[in-house]
Amino acid sequence: MKILKFGGTSVGTPDRMKQIAQLVQTPGRKVVVLSALSGTTNTLVEITEYLYQNQSELAIKHISTLKTHYEQFTKTLLQSEIGKQKATQILEEHFKTLLVFANDIDAFTEKEEKIILAQGEMLSTKIFHAYLEEQNIKSTFLSALHFMKTGEEGEPDLNFIEATLNQEIKEYPETMLFITQGYICLNAAGSIDNLKRGGSDYSASLIGAALRAEEIQIWTDIDGMHNSDPRIVKNTKPVAELSFEEAAELAYFGAKILHPATIHPAQQYNIPVRLLNTMQPEALGTTIKELTDAQPVIKSIAAKDQITAIKIKSTRMLMAYGFLRKIFEIFESYKTPIDMITTSEVAVSLTIDNDAHLAEIVAELEKFGNVEIDHEQSIVCVVGDFVAEQLGTAAQVFDALKSIPVRMISFGGSRHNISVLISTKDKNDALVRLHQRLF
Ligand code: ADP
Ligand code: ASP
Ligand code: MG
Repeated sequence: MKILKFGGTSVGTPDRMKQIAQLVQTPGRKVVVLSALSGTTNTLVEITEYLYQNQSELAIKHISTLKTHYEQFTKTLLQSEIGKQKATQILEEHFKTLLVFANDIDAFTEKEEKIILAQGEMLSTKIFHAYLEEQNIKSTFLSALHFMKTGEEGEPDLNFIEATLNQEIKEYPETMLFITQGYICLNAAGSIDNLKRGGSDYSASLIGAALRAEEIQIWTDIDGMHNSDPRIVKNTKPVAELSFEEAAELAYFGAKILHPATIHPAQQYNIPVRLLNTMQPEALGTTIKELTDAQPVIKSIAAKDQITAIKIKSTRMLMAYGFLRKIFEIFESYKTPIDMITTSEVAVSLTIDNDAHLAEIVAELEKFGNVEIDHEQSIVCVVGDFVAEQLGTAAQVFDALKSIPVRMISFGGSRHNISVLISTKDKNDALVRLHQRLF
């Protein structure tokens, strides 16, 4: 079994959808996981924002524009009478759902928001399935809401996913091609939910792990993981191979091509993940797998924005033990992960990317000493295999950044990453300089 996930741009026009219908017809059994058409989830997010603000007229206007887009899309894609009827039914059903909430905003809560956000993937998979049917390409439609589930902590429940999905697949022994939605799931309460923005990659790897797939393919609009962010740096190049650890660091520290959690389920069952380009299917892309004979090289650089740095200065820290534990417990109690940490004799600096509980955290930290906060920080993360004997890597990184104020440095936590914290306003400059110096 192979898993093939196609992102928003890969299904974003009728021509691209026709093209992926070709791509999925190679021999072998597969599960095809689709995102919403490009732009759809953003529009759905806007609609929910209007509904939260009681602006139902604006929400309805956006729903109507979106519907026109889908009408044109399906008119171009589907040619047969049956196909056109199917499209009308699909659009009726899902746009009716959107309008129901828009017309009853008094009852608008997170639950309704999540239902709205789920419509994009429902639409794309149903439209694609209708197109395959029209082309006489046999496929089975699976609703991700049957098997994709998160538990009490909001984390995917892989045991449930594995049991339910395998059972469902067993019911179709003849089927070679399954179609399902990325991103959407049911939560512990049984309500519709999602795996956060960009979550279709994560769906694909969870499905791959559940089915012990031989390979997970992530098809997108670029030929693999590049050695820096192509939106910021010119002349970046695809990296042919990455270890699971390297790919996980890059995804976690901001490489948008992969949802941050994608690697873990694949790595757990040692399933290779390939990043491929729908617009250039013959390109090699990037293969992420267990690398045993890794060469000590710098592979790629990523950056993560919206980081908050917190410094706690305390003379009570001097020669004291147990101080860090007390600090960490505060973050733990607010379920706020720490990304970077540096310490000195009298101060500790750390970073978080989720500042939802910042005020409460600061109030508790102030019991220990003086607290300073810096907003709008970015972590720039250089990823590769830095074996200890490989001298000079850190020197090269700092040489490249010598004109940029560096707030924190982290090296040695793993052999895969050197991270620095800088002000976000310096980020583009830092990425360009690092690319010039390191590649
Ligand atoms: P999809 O809709 O297929 O999920 P995304 O937009 O989520 O696609 O991810 C692909 C985009 O990620 C690329 O178009 C590129 O601009 C961006 N990106 C950021 N960093 C990198 C990187 N290091 N390598 C490749 N692409 C990257
Ligand atoms: N459609 C969702 C989003 O735009 C999920 C995804 O594309 O991966 O975030
Ligand atoms: Mg994506």
